[in-house]
Amino acid sequence: MAFTTLPQARPAAALEALPTQCELCRQWTRGDALCSDCDARFAAPRWRCARCALPTGTAVARCGGCLGEHEPPWAAAVAAVDYGFPWDGLVAAFKFGGRVELAAPLASRLVRALTSAPPVDLVLPVPLAPARLAERGYNQAWELARRIAAARGLPARDDLLLRPVDTPHQTGLSRAERETNLARSFMVEPALRGALAGRTVALVDDVMTTGATLAAATRELQRAGAASVVVWVVARTPAPGTD
Ligand SMILES: [Zn+2]
Ligand SMILES: [Zn+2]
Repeated sequence: MAFTTLPQARPAAALEALPTQCELCRQWTRGDALCSDCDARFAAPRWRCARCALPTGTAVARCGGCLGEHEPPWAAAVAAVDYGFPWDGLVAAFKFGGRVELAAPLASRLVRALTSAPPVDLVLPVPLAPARLAERGYNQAWELARRIAAARGLPARDDLLLRPVDTPHQTGLSRAERETNLARSFMVEPALRGALAGRTVALVDDVMTTGATLAAATRELQRAGAASVVVWVVARTPAPGTD
């Protein structure tokens, strides 16, 4: 499947309102990336662990990992879809292919998955380091976070949680070294700690794989005074062995 790059001159807002073709079957849709048939097939809700959003197969509140020693630092996690076909391609086009207009259909799947999620006070994106942001031109997590916040009538801000430097290359490092590097990557803007104190915060990202980045960001928010952190992601990589 090819993900074509749209002409850059057309503003994203105008593109979202135009009829477009389904990314998978080319059926005409009302500005959505997937038609309702493909949506029903590839975005069907499934049982997930309320703590880490891994698929569970049945209606259990927690997966085995979260009942054991692998409790994540956040209070709850919501994912809209599994990170696999066709979402891996759509996320890659959104993130690396300059197709920022895919933020709307991806955010709308997450909004739908959040229907019964408990309320939060504030929505924050996982930040990008300045060099990465300059290279990409936008933070994909912020493009999602601000749309999700708007749909739920919540404030969102991208100036509170910062990533002053990019996380160093992690290959060849021990788990402890990787965690130290990640922990140093995030910082709450000191002047904005008051906006965080005692609040329940939703941290938004496009994909959760191991959860290490989200865990490091969560710990920094907790250190800086957040009362509770929940994680909202569009796509969750299923654990090996889950289908
Ligand atoms: Zn379709
Ligand atoms: Zn779990």
